[in-house]
Amino acid sequence: MKSYIQHLECSNCNATYPHTEPHNVCNECGKPLFARYALEQLVNKWKPEDLHTRPYSLWRYRELLPIQNEDDVVSLGESVTPLIPTKRLGDHIGLDNLWVKDESRLPTGSFKARGLAMAVSKAKSLDIDKLAIPSAGNAATALSVYAAKAGIPAYIFMPKDTPIFNQKTCELAGANVTLIDGLITDAGKIVADRKADERWFDVSTLKEPYRVEGKKTMGFELAEQCGWELPDVIIYPTGGGTGIVGMWKGFEELETIGWINKKRPRFISVQSAGCAPIVKAWKEGKTHAEPWQEAKTLASGLRVPQAIGDFLILDAIRKSKGAAISVSDEEIVNAMKILPTCEGLLTCPEGAATIAALQHLLTIGIINRSEKIVLFNTGGFQS
Ligand SMILES: *Cc1c(COP(=O)(O)O)cnc(C)c1O
Repeated sequence: MKSYIQHLECSNCNATYPHTEPHNVCNECGKPLFARYALEQLVNKWKPEDLHTRPYSLWRYRELLPIQNEDDVVSLGESVTPLIPTKRLGDHIGLDNLWVKDESRLPTGSFKARGLAMAVSKAKSLDIDKLAIPSAGNAATALSVYAAKAGIPAYIFMPKDTPIFNQKTCELAGANVTLIDGLITDAGKIVADRKADERWFDVSTLKEPYRVEGKKTMGFELAEQCGWELPDVIIYPTGGGTGIVGMWKGFEELETIGWINKKRPRFISVQSAGCAPIVKAWKEGKTHAEPWQEAKTLASGLRVPQAIGDFLILDAIRKSKGAAISVSDEEIVNAMKILPTCEGLLTCPEGAATIAALQHLLTIGIINRSEKIVLFNTGGFQS
C-alpha cells in the first residue's frame, strides 16, 4: 500500500505547492488547497477487490490518502462506520429506502476524528511541533486526542459556551485550552494573529489541506457500502462544510479511477435557522456566502457564521442539483427523539437536524418516496 499523492493545488486558482512541506491556504489567492494524486496511474491498477483483504478502517483507502510513510499514521482505530437501514423511521416519515450513516462510532464520538486523524498524521510526517485550532467543539476534542497520541502539543480556542463534553475532553487529553467570548470565527482570528509569534501550525478546517482528505473517506465508505453505486440523495448537516466538500472531491477521484460512474447523489445541506449562511446564499443564487450575524443555535457544530470553503460547498450543492434548507432549534430538539425512538440510534443535535429537514423536503417535493436517501448522523449524543 502506498500513497499516490503528488502535490497540493489551489481549489480556486490552481497554483501548486509541494505536499512535503507545511502549507495552509494558497499564497496567491488565500483559498483552500487540495491534495492531488496520480489518479491516472491507478486506473486499471488499483481495484475495488484489492480492498477485501484490508483492515476495515478508513486507512483501507491508502492510495488516495496523503500519508506516505506507515510510521507517520496516527490512529485510534477509525473503523468504517455502519450504514444502517432505518425502515421504522422510513415508515414513520413516508420513505421506502432510508439509511443512516452513523458517524458516532468513531473515536471521540464524532466524524471530526476522520479529519484530525489525517491532519495530525500529516503534521507528524512534516515534523510540525505545535498545533493550534479554532473550534466549535468536536474538532477540538478530536485534535486533542490525536495530538496526544502523536505527542504534539495542541492549542485549542473555542467559545466559552462550547458543550462541556468538549471542554472537559480537551483538558483530560492535556491540550492547552482557551475559552473565548465569541464564536468560532473569533477564535480563528486569534489563531491567525498569534500563530507566527507562537510558531503554531493552524489546523482550521480547509485552511489546513488534509482534514478534508480524512472527511472524503465518508464518501469512499458510502460508495463501497452501496456496491460502488451512489445513493440518490445525501442529507448532511453543514457547518464549515468540509464533509460535503470532502465527499464531492472523493467521488470525483473515484470516477476518475473508474470505480463509480457519473451519477452523483443530490447533496442537501441542512443548517440551523439561527445560523444559515449557506442556505441564504444558495437561495439567493450567490457563489459566496455573507457572514451570518449573531449566529445562535444549540447545534454547536452548525454554529459557523462564515466558512472559507463557502464557494466549494455551494458549488457541490449546485452541481449535484441538490438544495440547502434550514430548520429551527425547536424542530431539532423535537427531532432528537425520533431516531432513538424509531431505531435505537442516539443522535447529536446536528444529526437530528437532518431528520427535522426530511419532512420539509418530502412536503416541498425535493425528495421522493422511492429514492435511496442517506442521512449523516455526524456524532453521538453527548450531554
Ligand atoms: C463539525 C460538525 C458538523 C459540521 O460539519 P462540516 O463538515 O464542517 O460542515 C456537523 N455535525 C457535527 C456533530 C460536527 O461536529
